Amino acid sequence: MSGLSLEEQAARRTIRWLVAESSAVQSASFANDAAALRRQLEWWGEKGYHGLVVPPEWGGRGRTFLLQTLVVEALAERDAALALLYEVHNALHLEAVWRYGSDAQRAAWLPDLIAGRRLGGFALTEEEAGSDAEAIACRAVPEAGGWRLFGHKRFVTGGGLYDQYLVFARVPGAGPTAFVVERDQAGVTFGPPHATLGLESVPVADLQLDGVLVADTARLGAEGAGYAMALDLLDGGRVGVAAQAVGILAAALRQSLAFARQRRQFGRPIAGFQGVQWKLAEMARDLAAARLLTYEAARRRPLGESERPLFAMAKWFASERAVYHAAQAVQIHGGRGYLREMGVERLYRDSKATEIYEGTSEILRLVIASRLINGYNWDSI
Ligand SMILES: Cc1cc2nc3c(=O)[nH]c(=O)nc-3n(C[C@H](O)[C@H](O)[C@H](O)COP(=O)(O)OP(=O)(O)OC[C@H]3O[C@@H](n4cnc5c(N)ncnc54)[C@H](O)[C@@H]3O)c2cc1C
Repeated sequence: MSGLSLEEQAARRTIRWLVAESSAVQSASFANDAAALRRQLEWWGEKGYHGLVVPPEWGGRGRTFLLQTLVVEALAERDAALALLYEVHNALHLEAVWRYGSDAQRAAWLPDLIAGRRLGGFALTEEEAGSDAEAIACRAVPEAGGWRLFGHKRFVTGGGLYDQYLVFARVPGAGPTAFVVERDQAGVTFGPPHATLGLESVPVADLQLDGVLVADTARLGAEGAGYAMALDLLDGGRVGVAAQAVGILAAALRQSLAFARQRRQFGRPIAGFQGVQWKLAEMARDLAAARLLTYEAARRRPLGESERPLFAMAKWFASERAVYHAAQAVQIHGGRGYLREMGVERLYRDSKATEIYEGTSEILRLVIASRLINGYNWDSI
């Protein structure tokens, strides 16, 4: 049903076992504990699960993007916050260094990023440049041998937790350009983490750049190539967010089924009532559909932007279904579902962000429609 080969199913079993083994994968223990989150991310590096898609000659595992997607899904089923941090490090930062870095940049950064000794984030969004990311105003001013970065980034996942960030700034005459900026460089300041609806253990902070001096060797890709690079990375990121949503959906179904079997009213388990059964059936149906769409998108990730509509469809569908069914899961749990102690309301709160970051559902609709109108081969799906 999952469409996975025997080898992929075995890999998934190993990943799920590792998630279970990593005893601390309970978000509650991470709340406001950046050190515990870091240890988890480092642990996944020690186990060989960062840089899965990077070839062995560059220290990676030479595995598929689908495998990385399975890790995100399995993590999200236990802890959507950790899944997000894993996904950003791998799909939006490490992959950028691998795909767009020079040999010298790969040699400098990949070993530590793959080992989990250093962790990387992604800083594109600004106050006036959210969905319209090309409108960024952060500036990179040329200086002998390098650049000075000025500006303000918003909503940086892992802000202050990761060691380095892919920062997009505008180069005069060229446009958005990507730079690797280290957390501890002079002129880099992170604001305090924002209080958020869900994913509470993930620090989401603003980044102030006050004339940060970076060498030209910290520029990733060509001057002016940053916007296309960001969209390309977000293609992979969207598949990752789809997997995060699938994991949340799976958790919603697992918890709802367990509760419906044991909770008795009117003399029998509530699982015996058709009104509850319909919710469970719809949840299982949508989980299956979201999972298949996400895996297919992951398989096609190497095809790049020609499959952008499929990546968008996977994220849009999976995230929307996750939000809907996380709410249904709370409903199935009745009053208990509303209590923090049950943990099911957390799925509801965590799921909402999947409809927003890395491209809102509205923007994804635009991506799909514009490509359809311009000849995307929808019949290939
Ligand atoms: C928890 C969290 C973590 C994040 N992490 C990161 C990160 O690590 N790095 C990073 O760079 N960013 C990050 N973001 C930012 C995120 O990517 C943006 O919030 C998102 O792209 C939307 O931008 P915006 O918030 O400015 O909303 P806006 O673009 O202002 O949109 C507001 C509303 O208008 C709608 N809208 C906008 N344009 C159109 C249109 N053309 N047609 C129809 N509707 C439209 C949107 O869909 C939305 O509903 C994060 C956000 C959150 C919530």
